[in-house]
Amino acid sequence: MTPSGQTSAEHEELLRRAAAAGIHRIAVPTPFLVGRVNCYLIEERPLTLVDTGPNSGKSLDELEVAMAALGHAIEDLELIVITHQHIDHLGLLEVLARRSGAEVAALDRLAPYLESFGASVAADDEFSMEVMRRHGVPVDMARALSMVGAAFRAFGSSGHVSRPLSDGDDLVVGDRTLRVLHRPGHSPSDTIFVDQTRGFLIAGDHLLPHISSNPVVSRPLGGGPGAQRPHALMDYLESMRATRELSLNLILPGHGDPFADHVGLIDERFRMHERRARKLLRMLASAPLTAYELATRMWGNVAVTQAYLTISEVLGHMDLLVARHEVAESDEDGVTRFHATVR
Ligand SMILES: [Zn+2]
Repeated sequence: MTPSGQTSAEHEELLRRAAAAGIHRIAVPTPFLVGRVNCYLIEERPLTLVDTGPNSGKSLDELEVAMAALGHAIEDLELIVITHQHIDHLGLLEVLARRSGAEVAALDRLAPYLESFGASVAADDEFSMEVMRRHGVPVDMARALSMVGAAFRAFGSSGHVSRPLSDGDDLVVGDRTLRVLHRPGHSPSDTIFVDQTRGFLIAGDHLLPHISSNPVVSRPLGGGPGAQRPHALMDYLESMRATRELSLNLILPGHGDPFADHVGLIDERFRMHERRARKLLRMLASAPLTAYELATRMWGNVAVTQAYLTISEVLGHMDLLVARHEVAESDEDGVTRFHATVR
């Protein structure tokens, strides 16, 4: 049994069902902690690839071998669809689009971001430096993290979106129609694709079976480095509420194995975030704390190595508690501290 409560035989069965409907999972390696990323090849006219994997020779090799095993070459691709702005999902975009001449479909608001990817990611880095400074991450640590981020940038890629998509659009791929839905939270550009006839969902990182999709605090699309911090977890919970209403029987996630019960998974996530909010609130009982101090109390050393992800988590839950008037924030010398309003 896996944490999502499914056996590997069930995973195999779900992958077989997807394949029978012409959708093949290709799990491509990444240099990141998350492990492999799932690309989905849809055997249709146009021959379609959803997500590309990161920009590395190893990823390209494995993608090419897996496509060849299915009887296709990179050059045969006619449409590339991008689920969201993270580099593990789009790094090979430029290479694949150039070699195949495929059209590129992505959320309309993501198009300018991809057009000048280097500048976009640099602005993201500047934005996250400011978030870390404001929320108590030591300056040296923030600087070291930003250097790691800059090194990882090479795994990304620019790209030209020739088919911009809007929330609610229908993307027609051969005889199937994919309903395009914008579901921000994990990132500002999360886009999911629903095959309503089959009850299939291509979910990107909006729903992941084994790990909670981090609601990363990201620079809003088109926002400057000093842009208002989005309430990523609140956006994410709202997005999950909307997805919960869909009638689905097979979810194809951006990482890990396919699953069938999206309602069960979403309810489990709601409960987990509620528990986490309560736990963080208890930590504020004795004294006001910064997001970084809360993260180190909650996760110890992980808050050092993964400072940005963990303070994103904390900030998400603080936003929830602030909205419920259980927590208030105060500013001192440009640093934000959270305190409980009821003791
Ligand atoms: Zn992602």
